[in-house]
Amino acid sequence: MKSLAFVQRNDTHFAVGDFSPVLSVFSYHDLGSTITPFLLLDHIGPGRLIPSTRSKGVNEHPHRGFETVTIVYEGEIEHRDSTGGGGIIRAGDVQWMTAAAGIVHRELFSDDFTQRGGRFEMVQLWINLPAADKMGPPGYQSLTRTQIPSVGLPDATGTVRVIAGQFEGGSGPARTHTRMNVLDVCLHAGHAATFSTGDGDTALVYLLSGRLQFDQDEPLEAQGLAVLSQQGADVMVRALDNSRLLVLTGERIDEPINGHGPFVMNSYDEILQAYDDVKNGRLGPVAGR
Ligand code: MN
Repeated sequence: MKSLAFVQRNDTHFAVGDFSPVLSVFSYHDLGSTITPFLLLDHIGPGRLIPSTRSKGVNEHPHRGFETVTIVYEGEIEHRDSTGGGGIIRAGDVQWMTAAAGIVHRELFSDDFTQRGGRFEMVQLWINLPAADKMGPPGYQSLTRTQIPSVGLPDATGTVRVIAGQFEGGSGPARTHTRMNVLDVCLHAGHAATFSTGDGDTALVYLLSGRLQFDQDEPLEAQGLAVLSQQGADVMVRALDNSRLLVLTGERIDEPINGHGPFVMNSYDEILQAYDDVKNGRLGPVAGR
């Protein structure tokens, strides 16, 4: 059994483009390779978009060297990128974008949602790529709500949506470059659940809402991140209140991390190269409108 190593909390909310509030849950800038293969997690919202006729979100920007995974809980995001990938990500849908050698994209609230307004909540997770795949072809996986298996916990004590990896016979639709589980979990108050991963794997639990307990430790409060020990294979949590959590586990990528802004590579020279490539238009314009 893995034990709780420490809790990471960051209560400062900020804005990314027009998205606000945004909570920087964790980042490799603070936690380094402790959280590998995961790099960064932002919790966007919960918030309310006021109806507008102007498009809102984050305009064209590049990425290289990793993957971004956007999970939408409420609201609608429209995505367009330089590979021609794009579409609308609705509540329950997940976008798994592989920047790899380079992508330029735009992340906006959909036109419909912008005109209508309403509540929004989403998370964006950055996942590292092994050095061998960092300059591979970019790609885009649109994982709709109906493609993501939802595994019921015994006696209707909760549900586990398997976005990537495995849980109790449920197999996630995401194609990944390294072995990992990305699980979107609802657990009812008073109940426990166990998530299996490999001994030595990284294991993180982000609590979007509710209250959780690990073993005999102090409860984890909402918007806190639990970082589990590397030793041990399973993660056991008990919900003290009805809880929504993200369980992120996976094999470590033990390679140097060198990142700046929208690029995460292995060396500083590769970061300079990425800026040079963007400056000289080698990452390409966003396709379509
Ligand atoms: Mn982006």
